[in-house]
Amino acid sequence: MSRFFSNKFSTLVPYTPGEQPKDVKYIKLNTNESPYPPSKKVLEAAGGEAERLQLYSDPECTLLHTSIANLYGVDKSEVLATNGSDEILNFAFMAFSDKDNPIVFPDITYGFYPVFAEINGIPYEKIPLKEDFSIDVNDYIGINKNIVIANPNAPTGKYMELCDIEKIVKSNPNNVVIIDEAYIDFGGESAIPLTKKYDNLIVTRTFSKSYSMAGSRLGFGVANKSLIADMNTIKYSTNPYNVNRMTQGAGVGAILDNDYYMQNCKEIIKAREYTKAALEGLGFDVLDSKANFVFAKSDKIGGEALYLALKARGILVRHFTSERIKEFNRITIGTMEQMEILIREIKSILEGVK
Ligand code: PMP
Repeated sequence: MSRFFSNKFSTLVPYTPGEQPKDVKYIKLNTNESPYPPSKKVLEAAGGEAERLQLYSDPECTLLHTSIANLYGVDKSEVLATNGSDEILNFAFMAFSDKDNPIVFPDITYGFYPVFAEINGIPYEKIPLKEDFSIDVNDYIGINKNIVIANPNAPTGKYMELCDIEKIVKSNPNNVVIIDEAYIDFGGESAIPLTKKYDNLIVTRTFSKSYSMAGSRLGFGVANKSLIADMNTIKYSTNPYNVNRMTQGAGVGAILDNDYYMQNCKEIIKAREYTKAALEGLGFDVLDSKANFVFAKSDKIGGEALYLALKARGILVRHFTSERIKEFNRITIGTMEQMEILIREIKSILEGVK
């Protein structure tokens, strides 16, 4: 730390992104990317916009907001596109929480939430998941605090039914509830339609997973238009051109090819169910997942040992060190072929530890 670093950040612990190694060509099952490439319309649109990079991007993201609004049946004043969904999450933390308006989230969830709270000076509380890693809805009913919940949750993959989400939103009318739907396209039902009914609900989404665009950094939020206006105040006070020209084009192109991406999701769901059954066949405890990853632990080998053994064999998965989940690994679902290789390698690793 330099002697100039602001005191207010001296204890800040930044988010640790998953490894993106450049040395070896791994089968990369560690950061929940799609195994499928972007569609043709994405390449064409991004390429076309690259020719106009001397010009600033549209700060109002007019075409992109219209495409997203049409896809989800909302008005474009109810949409805000951002530089990845991490940015809309940060905007929501900044806009609606502060030292007098704390935020709560599960003890096991997306590791960026406490970082957004810390950097914005927001007090936060972690509510423990149940023993089986599911969220207890009753913990969130009428708690009169802002709430952020990933649905499906990460890194567990566990999904909460929409009726339970609605109970939480309805019972906290004077607080903002953020539902982070980064993984909703892999089998869950979106809460976006509920934004019409509740003026305290923000749903955040990303193009990083189901739309094969992690590298382009595109996310968005859907909410009542006054919540969107507040988050626009934050956007125009930090980075008005937050979504670059190529990414805006790519987003519009992706929505034109929506069927391609939804078909890819079906393939990923098939590969997920294969992987779950195969891991269970090898004695693993695998949580039910509605995401593009599974969270699994073996009774024959520790979480870190398995992570290291797989890495040595050219397969990257994600291991977390926090006490409650350190025996698990989060395994991104790739193509069926990749998952078959994973299972083969795990089998061979387990044979070695007998
Ligand atoms: N929410 C959750 C639950 C995530 O796992 C991720 C991916 N790291 C994000 C949000 C952010 O994704 P992105 O910024 O790529 O849209």
